[in-house]
Amino acid sequence: MSWSYATHYKCDDCKIELSMGNRAVTTCPDCGGLLEVQYNFEELKKKSTPSDFKNRDRSIWRWHEFLPLKSKENIVSMGEGDTPLLPSIYIGGKLGLEKLYFKNDTLMPTGSFKDRGFSLAISYAKEIGITEGMTYSSGNAGMSFSAYAQRANMKTLTLVEYLANPLKQSLITLSGGKTAILHYKSMNEITQLLEEASRELNIYQFVNFINPIRHEAMKTYAYEISEALGWESPDYMIHPVGTGGGLWGAWKGFKELYELQWISKLPKMVAVQPSATGPHVKAFNQGKKVAVRVGDPTKTIAQSISADAPIQDGKRVLNALYESNGYAEEVTDEEIIGAMKDLGREGIVADPASAASVAGLKRLVQRGLIDSKSTIVCVITGGGLKQPKLIESLGNEDHVHINPDLSELSKLIKGL
Ligand SMILES: [Zn+2]
Repeated sequence: MSWSYATHYKCDDCKIELSMGNRAVTTCPDCGGLLEVQYNFEELKKKSTPSDFKNRDRSIWRWHEFLPLKSKENIVSMGEGDTPLLPSIYIGGKLGLEKLYFKNDTLMPTGSFKDRGFSLAISYAKEIGITEGMTYSSGNAGMSFSAYAQRANMKTLTLVEYLANPLKQSLITLSGGKTAILHYKSMNEITQLLEEASRELNIYQFVNFINPIRHEAMKTYAYEISEALGWESPDYMIHPVGTGGGLWGAWKGFKELYELQWISKLPKMVAVQPSATGPHVKAFNQGKKVAVRVGDPTKTIAQSISADAPIQDGKRVLNALYESNGYAEEVTDEEIIGAMKDLGREGIVADPASAASVAGLKRLVQRGLIDSKSTIVCVITGGGLKQPKLIESLGNEDHVHINPDLSELSKLIKGL
């Protein structure tokens, strides 16, 4: 039995196959397309069953056979993954849904789902001898990148969006990485800069999709959720989408489990973005295969998913939506705030981007697209405490003030 069943890379565009070796390759050296890790599932199927994974130590590394790291000696881990799949106690009832769950990745080591990807990407980079790296971030990814890289003794530069709030910017520096605040007019300028850096500068990049390893870790959503549901997929997986690494990775993971015949059906994938931008959603709803720049990223509170232009035309995310017969929804800030308050009633302090998944679900229900008996998972990708001013503004309106007086307290208790 192999520790990893990864075999090689394949280019999305020119379909060339490349050995993984110990090379610091990012995009396709021939055509610049995105590279995808391939695996030998025929062998894995002969040698593994779902029960093999059950009693291992809890983290994404339970699923090492499905990931491209070659040796466990190179694992850089802080206990990421295996977050709870929480059944809804409030929103499901409100929307008339019997089986609604939240995959609560606010409980990750640095407070967001990015830790899945960086545990894998930094471990892999360590394995191939990388000592310096760079990424671009809207905030959460930069903190995760810096924290994991420190543990691998790697020097890092994070270009963080000027739109990221000062707390997120500070958290990256606090986690030990070098930070530069990036000023730009459109995400297009950033993708162009990153592509030029790939060609001209000798620096390994960790940006989703451009780095061919990082988003492979998002497959663990599919493994963890299918296992928690008794080795069955949900009917709907609802993701907030920035670059779309989470949605794309989860879809790949479900397809792998289906190929192995460990699950009997595939979910419909749903992408949710803010209506102020939403390039993938707008392209999908027009039936297009590529997404283009649209909208203004400064006009939404969902800053983690506010990008106005997709990486490499958004083709991977759009493919996942079309292949899965899924949906795409755009939501307003008002709907996002409503969803943040509803998630509070579930015990989850979500950031606006994560709450967008719930706001998107409400839209699907309003459109009559979801059966009440469907199994639905909303992915809660990050905690709200990194946008403290917004969270403060949501809670303060309901506060009352009292003196240390029993009768005042008694009135409050009677009013519960
Ligand atoms: Zn190629």
